[in-house]
Amino acid sequence: MSDPKPNELIEKIDYNPSHKGWMDVPVEIRKGMYCYASNPKSVEYVGLPNARPWNPLDEDWKLPENWKEIVHTAFKERLDRFRSFKVFMDICVRCGACADKCHFFIGTGDPKNMPVLRAELLRSVYRNDFTTAGKILGKVAGARELTLDVLKEWWYYFFQCTECRRCSVFCPYGIDTAEITIMAREIFNLLGLNIDWIATPIANCYRTGNHLGIQPHAFKEMIEFFVDDIEEKTGVKVEPSFNKKGADILFVTPSGDVFADPGTYTAMGYLILFHYLKEQGLNVTWSTYASEGGNFGLFTSHEMMKRLNAKMYAEAKRLRVKWILGGECGHMWRVIHQYMDTMNGPTDFLEEPVSPITGTKFENAKSTKMVHIAEFISDLIYHGKLKLDKSRNDNLKVTYHDSCNPARGMGFFEEPRYVIKNVCNNFYEMPRNTIREQTFCCGSGSGLNAGEDIELRMCGGLPRANAVKYVHDKYGVNMLACICAIDRAVLPVLMNYWVPGVDVTGLTEMVANALILPGEMERTTNLRGEPLPGMEE
Ligand code: SF4
Ligand code: SF4
Repeated sequence: MSDPKPNELIEKIDYNPSHKGWMDVPVEIRKGMYCYASNPKSVEYVGLPNARPWNPLDEDWKLPENWKEIVHTAFKERLDRFRSFKVFMDICVRCGACADKCHFFIGTGDPKNMPVLRAELLRSVYRNDFTTAGKILGKVAGARELTLDVLKEWWYYFFQCTECRRCSVFCPYGIDTAEITIMAREIFNLLGLNIDWIATPIANCYRTGNHLGIQPHAFKEMIEFFVDDIEEKTGVKVEPSFNKKGADILFVTPSGDVFADPGTYTAMGYLILFHYLKEQGLNVTWSTYASEGGNFGLFTSHEMMKRLNAKMYAEAKRLRVKWILGGECGHMWRVIHQYMDTMNGPTDFLEEPVSPITGTKFENAKSTKMVHIAEFISDLIYHGKLKLDKSRNDNLKVTYHDSCNPARGMGFFEEPRYVIKNVCNNFYEMPRNTIREQTFCCGSGSGLNAGEDIELRMCGGLPRANAVKYVHDKYGVNMLACICAIDRAVLPVLMNYWVPGVDVTGLTEMVANALILPGEMERTTNLRGEPLPGMEE
C-alpha cells in the first residue's frame, strides 16, 4: 500500500466532534473504506435475492421496489426471534463506556464508528417503527425514518465493524454490538447488498467445500507439495491420509492454511505433528470434502452459517470417525463454540473426545465433539509427549495476539501461551489492556480482508499494531504469533505498514520447528527455509 502513508493516516484522525447532530451528517462513501459489491453470480449461486451488478458509489443501488417493506418485515422478524436483539435495541443508556473501545473509532476518529452510535444507526429506525415514543415524538425521542440515505449509512458502517465484540466487554449492560451488526448484515442480504469478499467465498465454499474454491484433487495436491517440502527440510517423509474411513479423528482447518504463506507453514506444522504422533497411536485423516473450517456464512446470515457448517458433521458421519480436531482459525471457533451443536447437531454418532496419546478426556468438547489444536497440543506437552528443542526458536522474540473469536468468543487464553512458552525461550506480552478479553482486533476480520478497503483495514488495525510496536521497541519483538487464519493473512500487511520488522506465525509452525523428529537429518533451517540459530553461515 502506498497511499496514504502511515504518518498521513495518523494526521487524518480527528477526534473533535462535529458541530452538527449525527443525524444531520450525511454519509460519505469513500474509496479505500469499503469493499466492492458482491458478484451477482456468487449471490445467485447460493440462492440469495436480488443478484445484479451494483456499485456502492452509484446513486441507484438497484434495490427491489418494496425494499422498505422487506427491511421492516425482516427487522420485526428478528426482534421477535432474537430476544437479545430486542433487548439491545431497548436498554442502551448511552453512557458512552463503549465509545472509545472500538478499533475503528480509535483509528478513524469517525463518531459513527463508536459502538454506541453504530448501534444507534439501527436503533433510531427501530424507535421510529416499533416504539410508541418514537412514533409520537420522532426525532425528540431519537427516532428517524428509514430512507435510502439511512440505508446507505447502515451499509457503510456495518461493514466497518469486524464483529469483534471488544465493545461488549466494556458495556455495563453487556450489549453486544457485534450481534447488532450480524442482524444488519442479514437484512442487507435480503436486499442483495452483500460485499464480494464475503459472497464469493461462501459461493466457493458451497461448491467445493472451501472459501478459496480449491477442488478436492487440488487440495490434496497442495498438501502433498508440503510433504515434499517437509522432507527437504527435515529428511522425514510424512504420510497424511485423506478421506480415510474408520480413522479415529477428522482434522478440519481453514483453507487459508494450505493456500498462502505464512499459513502454509502452520499447515506443514500440522503434518509434522500428526506424523510424530502416529507411532503413539494417532489415527487422523484430512478431508477433501470438509476442506474448510472457516465459515463466512457467519458474516452473511444464521442460515448461511448453518448451511456451510453442516459439512463437518456430515463428513465425520460418513468417515465414521470418533471426534473432530480443529486447526488454528478464529471465527471457525466462534461458530463451533457458540452455535454448532444446536445448529447442526445432535452429534450422537460421535464420541466424547479423548486424546489417544494421553487419555485426556476433553470434557469441554462434550457437546460439540470438536477439540482445538492448541488445547490438544497443550495436553501433549503437559504429559511430556513431545520432545522439543526450544532453542531452535531462539531467533524469535515472540508476542501473542489473542484473536478476537477464540479469546472473547470462547475464553481461550492460557493454552496458546502455554504452548508458546514451551517451544520458545523469548516471549513478551503486549500491554494488559490490549490482550486476552481486551484484545484489539486485526482490523480485517468478518470478511473485510479485501484489497480495496485497505485504508479502513490499516485504520482499524492501528491499535493492535501500536501494542505490537510497544513490545517491538521495548524488547525487540520480531514475531507475532496467532491462532487465526485471517490473522495470518492480514497481520503481515498490517505489520509491514505500521511495524516493519515484525513477522507473523501460527502456533503449530513454532511447535513443528522445535519438535525433534525420530530419524530427522540435522535440521539447519526452519520450515520457512531460514537458517536455525547457530546455523547461519
Ligand atoms: S456501554 Fe452499553 S449502555 Fe453504554 S453506550 Fe455503550 S452500548 Fe450503550
Ligand atoms: S464489535 Fe468490534 S468492530 Fe464492532 S463496534 Fe464493537 S468494537 Fe467495533
